[in-house]
Amino acid sequence: MSDARIPVLDLAPEISSLWDELNAAFQEVLRSGHFIMGEQVGTFEAQVAAYLGVKHAIGLNSGTDALVIGLRALGIEPGDEVITTPFSFFATAEAASIIGATPVFVDIDPQTFNLDIDQVASAITPRTRAIIPVHLYGHAADLDPLLALTAKHGIQLLEDVAQAFSGEYRGRKLGTLGQAGAFSFFPSKNLGAYGDAGMLVTNEDSVAQSARMLRAHGSLKKYHNQTVGYNSRMDTLQAAILSVKLPHVDTWSESRRTAAARYNAMLADLPEIVTPCEAPYARHVYHQYTIRIQGGRRDRIQSKLDAAGVSTMIYYPVPLHKLPVYAERNLHFPISEAAAAEVLSLPIWPQITTEIQERVVTALRSALLE
Ligand SMILES: *Cc1c(COP(=O)(O)O)cnc(C)c1O
Repeated sequence: MSDARIPVLDLAPEISSLWDELNAAFQEVLRSGHFIMGEQVGTFEAQVAAYLGVKHAIGLNSGTDALVIGLRALGIEPGDEVITTPFSFFATAEAASIIGATPVFVDIDPQTFNLDIDQVASAITPRTRAIIPVHLYGHAADLDPLLALTAKHGIQLLEDVAQAFSGEYRGRKLGTLGQAGAFSFFPSKNLGAYGDAGMLVTNEDSVAQSARMLRAHGSLKKYHNQTVGYNSRMDTLQAAILSVKLPHVDTWSESRRTAAARYNAMLADLPEIVTPCEAPYARHVYHQYTIRIQGGRRDRIQSKLDAAGVSTMIYYPVPLHKLPVYAERNLHFPISEAAAAEVLSLPIWPQITTEIQERVVTALRSALLE
């Protein structure tokens, strides 16, 4: 067993611990015969709204759709500018492009990997209509100064909470501080379905109403379409599964924090490694435990870890402004580019054991020595 390859994420312990409950939930959906937007979708929406302390939760087909529908529900239109980070998953910027808006990138803070507030402030133009901060790896972006900017300029704040379900900013749940929050329940996220699913949350009635309309082909009443929308309804099975998992999410986040603290202690004496920070305003939920390896050695270290049976991931190897789709803009963001060359996400999941973490760190130490 101790020779088994270590994955970056192991969902098996969670699935086996909830096996009977998951099966019961599956069977209930099978018996109901309502596979899309069945009763369990409404139940899960109410549960998330209560958990987060937010007025509306709208179940959708993916986190990407939550961003797209969120932007449109907030009134963002073709030609508008949306300020966001180039150090994220592509979907964050793609959502703005999909609706014909322009994603405007600014560089990140080197400690938190999240939006650099001063650069956001200087990127605001008369065409700016929204800011999308990403709570990357489960660590909150610094929301108070961003909210001050959006209030001052009368623009919208849409939180990309795909990686940070249950994370907090100054004691408040992420996703509930801006005008809306976009969640993903992709299987590997901290609260993951067993297929695609997502959710938009908001305290604003009109935004919720608009999102409910957009997810169902632009209609609130079937066959009375008022606008061009999407097919972005949530599957009943995914909602039923997520309802089984939601009551455990706090325990899982606490376990991720404990595992992260163990890695921090194990890596503390290695000057070549920068361990993740947790800002005073944040409750980090470690969707990823991401270190930095400086001096141009990251890729070699990753190969050596791989050869030693330790899987790791690079989130993300190419900053968004360098992707072919946006490269023609010829942008340069040194902090994001350095991060893309130095980050390495180590294996983490709620049930990861000290023994597995010791094997990861032992392999990392010998890779660093070579
Ligand atoms: C996963 C992710 C998304 C997209 O979510 P999907 O459910 O896969 O569509 C968006 N933004 C970030 C930061 C993500 O990590």
